[in-house]
Amino acid sequence: MSNSEKVWLVTGGSRGIGQAIVERALADGNRVAVLSRNPKKDKTEATNKENNDRQLNLAADVCDEAQLQVAVEQIISEWGRLDVVVNNAGLHRGGKTSSLDLEDWEAVVQTNLSGALKVIRSAEPHLEQGASIVNIGAVVGFRGFPGDAAYASSKAGLAGLTRALSIEYAKRGIRVNLVIPGLVFTDMTSGLSEKAMDSMRDMIPLGRLGEAAEIAAVVHSVAAATYMTGAFIPVDGGLMSTFGMPG
Ligand code: NAP
Repeated sequence: MSNSEKVWLVTGGSRGIGQAIVERALADGNRVAVLSRNPKKDKTEATNKENNDRQLNLAADVCDEAQLQVAVEQIISEWGRLDVVVNNAGLHRGGKTSSLDLEDWEAVVQTNLSGALKVIRSAEPHLEQGASIVNIGAVVGFRGFPGDAAYASSKAGLAGLTRALSIEYAKRGIRVNLVIPGLVFTDMTSGLSEKAMDSMRDMIPLGRLGEAAEIAAVVHSVAAATYMTGAFIPVDGGLMSTFGMPG
């Protein structure tokens, strides 16, 4: 492995924003472990064309610490180290709080918040000075939207976890940051009605949805930003500016 080559773990890397993060990391010459519950059999097109051994598709549920430990051990046994962890796996279930099924609440919080903690704890023994953790937040974690209590709470919690860990890990030289995507068309948002999409688009100062690759580009800058930790970085077409930046 060359000195510039890093080993990335991207949770939820099989599709959507995670897949774009994986593609970008591979294009930059890194090795990438792509973790999801139902991993693809194929590698990305870019990896297939040249060097198949730079991508490892791993099956694990971020809610299951034992599965995560097996996955991390596999990365270490294949590549001997871990440099960048992206907590991107996510689940959205909406519903008015009064009628929200508690199972939905638990699933969202378990995946988006406790899942990130479990991934970090599984990876932590292998992270060294210079390692970087990038958590993927959401604008709803900072701004109230009715009917989104579970998702908003999980993402607000992830923001708190980011700040707490950034301080805990600072002395070891491990950075922890939160990238906050705006609205991107993926499987997660494909169920939104056209009317809901239009009204959300109207709220975005740049007047359009984001592309997954635009989020991935920022994740890569943040992962490489050696003097940034505990930061919240919106990539949202200006949506956060309409109600003030998080503190
Ligand atoms: P997506 O298309 O639904 O993809 C979700 C990914 O997470 C899939 O790879 C899925 O694979 C994986 N995943 C879900 N639950 C998992 C679990 N328990 N264990 C392991 N992997 C799991 O979602 P997306 O829109 O790309 O969202 C990616 C991240 O960005 C999420 O954290 C989301 O909250 C955040 N985000 C998205 C938007 C947006 O507009 N799309 C906006 C703000 C923030 P499997 O199903 O195979 O496990």
